[in-house]
Amino acid sequence: MSTPTRITHLIAGSAWEGTAERTSEVFNPATGEVSGVLDLASADLVADVVAGAKQAWQDDWGNISLAKRTQVLFKFRELLDRDKERIAALITAEHGKVLSDALGEVIRGLEVVEFACGIPSLMRGGFSENASTRVDVYSIRQSLGVVAVISPFNFPAMVPLWFVPVAIACGNAVVIKPSEKDPSATIAVAELWKEAGLPDGVINVVNGDKEAVDALLTHPDVKAVSFVGSTPIARYVYETGTAHGKRVQALGGAKNHMLVLPDADLDLAADAAINAGFGSAGERCMAISALVAVDSIADDLIEKIKDRMGKLRTGDGTRGCDMGPLVTGPHRDKVTSYVEAGVTEGAELVVDGRGRQYDSDGEGFFLAPTLFDKVTPGMSIYDDEIFGPVLSVVRVESYDDGLELINSNPYGNGTAIFTNDGGAARRFQNEVEVGMVGVNVPIPVPVSYYSFGGWKNSLFGDSHAHGSEGVQFYTRGKVVTSRWLDPSHGGVNLGFPQND
Ligand code: NAD
Repeated sequence: MSTPTRITHLIAGSAWEGTAERTSEVFNPATGEVSGVLDLASADLVADVVAGAKQAWQDDWGNISLAKRTQVLFKFRELLDRDKERIAALITAEHGKVLSDALGEVIRGLEVVEFACGIPSLMRGGFSENASTRVDVYSIRQSLGVVAVISPFNFPAMVPLWFVPVAIACGNAVVIKPSEKDPSATIAVAELWKEAGLPDGVINVVNGDKEAVDALLTHPDVKAVSFVGSTPIARYVYETGTAHGKRVQALGGAKNHMLVLPDADLDLAADAAINAGFGSAGERCMAISALVAVDSIADDLIEKIKDRMGKLRTGDGTRGCDMGPLVTGPHRDKVTSYVEAGVTEGAELVVDGRGRQYDSDGEGFFLAPTLFDKVTPGMSIYDDEIFGPVLSVVRVESYDDGLELINSNPYGNGTAIFTNDGGAARRFQNEVEVGMVGVNVPIPVPVSYYSFGGWKNSLFGDSHAHGSEGVQFYTRGKVVTSRWLDPSHGGVNLGFPQND
């Protein structure tokens, strides 16, 4: 067993050299071994980092030209592309997802950098000449100052990349607080900004837990917070951050439904259910966890899914397996307890993922893909976000029953419909109360120039990530009304300004 490495904060372009009062362990989930010891930031340290970031924003970045910003962004894009395999390996080592999936995550993050490279046009304002006689009116968008990004464990590279490139492109300084479960990929990506030419202090990573998060949420110089994580914490972050005068977007948990109509291509639907249900061991906020099958085709569909599940290999993500471990031992135990609860509550366990053989050298945090049939609302495996490789089939009689089920759910992150009927698909996209909708696409993560985010308990705040909403979120609008005297002075007039 190798000695765990120290993992620390990235402050003003350098690794922190202080001594942490508190630390936590980081695991390799495929072997169960402790691979790192993470420094946890105190509230005082967070305050120092915010002060440094504010200084860097004031002195070096807030008013830098769009041309120079774009140069840094293009360079950063090149470096991230160069290092994508190295970063994917860091993700697999701490999160557990298989290498190909980790690489996919980095590449989706890279797309947001490419979007942010277009910042000169994205930040362009409007101009109206002669709004009044010889008076021009124009709008500009300005940076906010210091913004915080607080991210979850399940996408340690991609989720920070949803926000950071856009925030920086808009002229802000950023403090990231990654998940304490797998911080190394986030830090490695942040380190590349220095090489890209970003001035020190514009990007910082503080590691920590609730103490660090609370310090960011209450600090007067943090102007905006982008949070992604579970629904209870998202709600807390939104309420605390807004109570302290901040702009907050807090993306929460999910329970994503995939509705399969009788006319769907069942092979396509079965492949999609496997990919979206068990990819990344079900630890995706866009994972499908409820497969809503119209009863007439449910048996056939389940048979096809069962057949495919028999061929999946679970094990160490570096060994070409289909699915890796869960992120930690306690999380694996929690997910396993849902399998037990599903049986007790009367669902039919079609494929049991417990007690399998796994392709790993150690005691990793594994649970193989698990399938339940005849799941109904009221059972905990339906009501709760399990965040593991447990797929529940809920049978319905019709499209309308399926729609009602989905719309009654408190979450509204992603959903998908599988059908060959364009009219039904079109009706679904219009009627479903969910933020991201797939038509024969099981994981409809929007491309970077659209915005990512759910509805209902999957998002607190009204601003989604990246795309034009990201640019709006990280900037403030200002409108200037301007008159240059030519040739004469207008004289004193105390009346309300009117246009002439
Ligand atoms: P989490 O809520 O436990 O943690 C998220 C972040 O909040 C971490 O940085 C963590 O350190 C911090 N945190 C945890 N407890 C806190 C507390 N009491 N006070 C202050 N901060 C706290 O989430 P997770 O387990 O890391 O991630 C999985 C969850 O994230 C799932 O619910 C998943 O659906 C959700 N998620 C949502 C999206 C989305 O776009 N909606 C995307 C990815 C993940």
